[in-house]
Amino acid sequence: MNFSELGLGDDILKAIEDIGYTTPTPIQEKAIPIVLMARDLIGLAQTGTGKTASFTLPMIEMLSSGRARSRMPRSLVLAPTRELAAQVGENFDLYGKYHKLTKALLVGGESMGDQIKILEKGVDVLIATPGRLLDLFERGQILLSDIKILVIDEADRMLDMGFIPDIERIVSLIPPTRQTLLFSATMPDEIKRLSDKFLSNPKMVSVAPPASPAKTVDHRMLEVSPRTKKSALKDLIDREEVKNAFVFCNRKKDVDMLGKWLKDQGFSASPLHGDMVQSKRTETLQAFKDGKIVLLVCSDVAARGLDVSGVSHVFNYDVPFNADDYVHRIGRTGRAGLKGKAWTLITEDDDKFVDAIIKLVGQDIPTESAQPQPQEKSSRPASKSSAKPVKSDKPRPEKRPEHKPARPEKTEKSRPRPHREAEDAGPNQFCDETMPAFLRR
Ligand code: AMP
Repeated sequence: MNFSELGLGDDILKAIEDIGYTTPTPIQEKAIPIVLMARDLIGLAQTGTGKTASFTLPMIEMLSSGRARSRMPRSLVLAPTRELAAQVGENFDLYGKYHKLTKALLVGGESMGDQIKILEKGVDVLIATPGRLLDLFERGQILLSDIKILVIDEADRMLDMGFIPDIERIVSLIPPTRQTLLFSATMPDEIKRLSDKFLSNPKMVSVAPPASPAKTVDHRMLEVSPRTKKSALKDLIDREEVKNAFVFCNRKKDVDMLGKWLKDQGFSASPLHGDMVQSKRTETLQAFKDGKIVLLVCSDVAARGLDVSGVSHVFNYDVPFNADDYVHRIGRTGRAGLKGKAWTLITEDDDKFVDAIIKLVGQDIPTESAQPQPQEKSSRPASKSSAKPVKSDKPRPEKRPEHKPARPEKTEKSRPRPHREAEDAGPNQFCDETMPAFLRR
């Protein structure tokens, strides 16, 4: 199948050709004709499948006739994070370059005055995080009564972040005659309830089983002791051929701490998390995309759905509490057919989370140990050469961790149960300025 068979107009086809896409991805092939028929849609697809274009392309087509009135946008895309909203905006710019559609991005951390000015001129596409949209609505700066197409993107992440009450409020402000598209990587009960309530006779399309890692990602685990975790990460980065990498932490304070520590070790590293001012977040992300930063140390919220092409590695400094996040994190590499490598540092305390990941991905994950192995060590050769990002191109011999073919079944070792989830894994821990209304102070 090619794009011209999907019902898209010549201007969009030309834009697609300019970008260089030759064939639609499976989600695009399935979803675009349904959206063009003005049907409601549930799209079960993860990031990296081309899902953003599966709604932006037909939306551009459908919005190409008609004009927006002041403060009355014609369509709305709700995204969980500012970065994701910005990415959706970039997609509209890219695919809509031969159209004259107007768009506005309403995200926290940016000047409200500027956003209001754009809204006053009238926008065809409004892309927003829930918190900022409700803020502006409550200030009487925006009317949602002219919205014909509503997209709820990354619905399961909205749920994780506690945005569902905000979403329900926003949807109740939009006329029921709209077309509604809901995208989610998974379909937990709460999202099913939401779609039953707000979508009308939707078509469901699904691509690739939710939460399965791409085959292009070689993902492995490294057993470390909590005491030497940082140096184990450093050794790992030293021995891998790292072009650029996401380094994930579970907590914002650790993002800062680790970013600083890696910098002190001579790496080109910067933190990215929701407590940073928006201008700094945008600047950091751009520097990473431009190759000026090699290691982007981040939280899940900041990195969710970010599409940076050609990322060579992902390092999970912490095991994610939520197994789905593991798949999302390692999916930042190995994109668009390129190969990628992902390493997760695991300690004894992480057993429960590691087991959940192995269960979810349905396969053993090769696991090595960074703990000293005296008798092995002497007989092992030095590892293959590796380059440390920016610091030096010179190969450095490193001790190579013992390699085990796969994570063994839990055996004789009785490990302490993890205690951390209760204190750390609540939605507040991960929220940024796009916090839902009921959590905002
Ligand atoms: P998404 O799942 O929307 O985050 O998209 C993931 C990546 O796939 C983005 O870098 C898109 O530019 C790229 N992409 C989207 N559609 C296509 C296509 N038909 N062919 C090749 N790449 C695509």
